[in-house]
Amino acid sequence: MRKLLALQKKEPPPPPPQKKQQQQKSDETKNQENKNKNQHSNENNKKKQQKHENDKEDDSKQLLQTLSFSSLPSAASSKKEKTSSSKSSALRKAFMERLAGSRFRELNEELYTTHSSTAYHKFTEQPELFQQYHDGFKQQVLSWPTNPVDVMLRSIVAYQKQQQQKKKIIVADFGCGEAKLAEKLLSIREVSSSAKQKKKKKQHNKNDTDSSSYCPFEVHSFDLVSGGNPLITPCDMSSVPLETNTVDVAVFCLALMGTNIDDFIREAHRVLKKGNGGILKIAEVRSRFESTTTDSSADNSSGSGGLDEFLQVMKTLGFDCTRMNRSNKMFLMMDFVKNGDEPSKQARFTAKPCIYKRR
Ligand code: SAH
Repeated sequence: MRKLLALQKKEPPPPPPQKKQQQQKSDETKNQENKNKNQHSNENNKKKQQKHENDKEDDSKQLLQTLSFSSLPSAASSKKEKTSSSKSSALRKAFMERLAGSRFRELNEELYTTHSSTAYHKFTEQPELFQQYHDGFKQQVLSWPTNPVDVMLRSIVAYQKQQQQKKKIIVADFGCGEAKLAEKLLSIREVSSSAKQKKKKKQHNKNDTDSSSYCPFEVHSFDLVSGGNPLITPCDMSSVPLETNTVDVAVFCLALMGTNIDDFIREAHRVLKKGNGGILKIAEVRSRFESTTTDSSADNSSGSGGLDEFLQVMKTLGFDCTRMNRSNKMFLMMDFVKNGDEPSKQARFTAKPCIYKRR
């Protein structure tokens, strides 16, 4: 009670009448200001609300566009809509890439873990799978420092130079994918020696450039389906439509898929020329044969268990390894020649599947 009295005592005296009026006025102004403020902040809130609504609308548009993969019709082409549509197309692109990536990984695993006849039937019945697989495969290749197809190309060109044979080098590309190797080899041109002499004589004629140039390669490319590519012959590569003893270079570039790799090797043995003529070139992902991929020494030793086993099976399938290049961190490049033995019919070989990680 005493405290209350003391407090009451401390209260300032009431303002004189004039001051009271001023106080009233300033209170009114404050009220007005507050009213204005409130009105302003209400307007702001309204605007915010509107923006939120708009944003929500944008988001649902994006979602709709993403899910239906189609653009919503837009009445006005305002800047905002443009930004929104570019956002949504980026979103859609990312979504499609994810979908393509997971489809690729699914197909990839299936190709590695099923018999080639199963894969052949599936892809023949659904040829669109080939495109789906290769859309993902192309993305994968882009992330590699080296494309083994390019290494393969260089080694086949070097082989052709060594041979100095007048006839074309006949190449069979098993599991050719989009036939990039064939495209590159077939674009190579050489000028025949007789044409070179003729050219010397006709030096004055500047138009006579490479009329007698020719491609030193004949390439047969095989894959499960052709996808409309005239360079590709669709088949299961365990049985290719080529004559026995006709091929100079047989290639498997990342193509030893399926659980019956031994069948592919037997088929390569059948079509390759006898004697020193034929060479089998294999490029494979190191992790399929090795427990680690860090050993980068380039020698002829066989390395860890998986690779030893592979080379042993290759022997029984009629091939000796003549070159093992481990200089690439991701891939092994191997050359084989026929060792004179007939391939064993009993030999079986399945390498570890190459499972690509989600990036
Ligand atoms: N050699 C190509 C493609 C590698 S991807 C490159 O290096 O770019 C492996 C390819 O082998 C795929 O195109 C797949 O369709 C093909 N393939 C897998 N099993 C096959 C089989 N049994 N017969 C034919 N092609 C096969």
